[in-house]
Amino acid sequence: MVLLRKSRSMCYSIFMTGERITASAIMDGLNTRVIGRRLLIFDSISSTMDVARKEALEKAPEGTAVIAERQTAGRGRLNRAWLTPEGNIAVSIVLYPPRECRDALIMLASLAVLNAIQSVTGLACQLKWPNDVLIHGKKVCGVLIETKMRADRLDYAILGIGINVNMRLAEHAEIQAIATSLADELGKTVSRVTMLRSLFTELERLYIGLFSGKSLYDEWRRNLATIGRPVTVHSGDDVSHGTAESVSEDGSLLLRCEDGSLRRITIGDVSLREQTKENG
Ligand code: ATP
Repeated sequence: MVLLRKSRSMCYSIFMTGERITASAIMDGLNTRVIGRRLLIFDSISSTMDVARKEALEKAPEGTAVIAERQTAGRGRLNRAWLTPEGNIAVSIVLYPPRECRDALIMLASLAVLNAIQSVTGLACQLKWPNDVLIHGKKVCGVLIETKMRADRLDYAILGIGINVNMRLAEHAEIQAIATSLADELGKTVSRVTMLRSLFTELERLYIGLFSGKSLYDEWRRNLATIGRPVTVHSGDDVSHGTAESVSEDGSLLLRCEDGSLRRITIGDVSLREQTKENG
């Protein structure tokens, strides 16, 4: 009887959150040469970034991917909490790109997520400068880039990617107004294994392109929902209002301020909100 109850709840959980992520399931049919060829998969860890950083410092093979079913201390930018309940994707990938590629990494990761989501689900996505992927204006993915410089070389880079795959936002009132998930958008669970395979494939395709000198800038700019919108930029205590006029090739935002001047906003420590009647 107890066993039956247990297996019923297990079935229910898998039904709601999708299949378990295993290395063999991801590897089956994965055609990349570097990205995701070494997988470290955890049930629950503080953050995939912490493990990936340790791996990078120990010179783990390029493309090593750290995946967690749950993160107990997942972080976004500016050390904000990032929720990773079961059923989502939390992955950090170790890379060793040349220094010249550093600015393009946020474009690389965001575009790879956008392309992977679109090809697996058919859902149209947009990007919010600097690091979010949106569906219908709501955040479905956050991207985090961590790099370490030594002298003038890039020692390593870590791409941190959190995708809301099978999370039900009705169960997370604290972010329900700003976030969505693939399952909520489609009304059904989505295979995280398929998503990860597609993500690794896209990352590798774009990464190889970067090495051969292909710029990601035009594609990134074309997909940015932020361009042309009235925005408020918070940088510490400093608040600026204006219109997001464009982005430059190094990834910074060009803000047309209310006094007519043009300000370059670097990704660093800024937080960007679209102006609405309430906050504008
Ligand atoms: P801003 O919009 O101010 O630029 P951000 O989008 O860069 O911020 P991040 O640091 O990337 O924010 O993400 C952290 C924020 O995202 C949290 O403060 C919370 O509001 C929200 N958040 C946390 N977990 C999730 C999630 N699973 N899905 C969507 N949003 C989340």
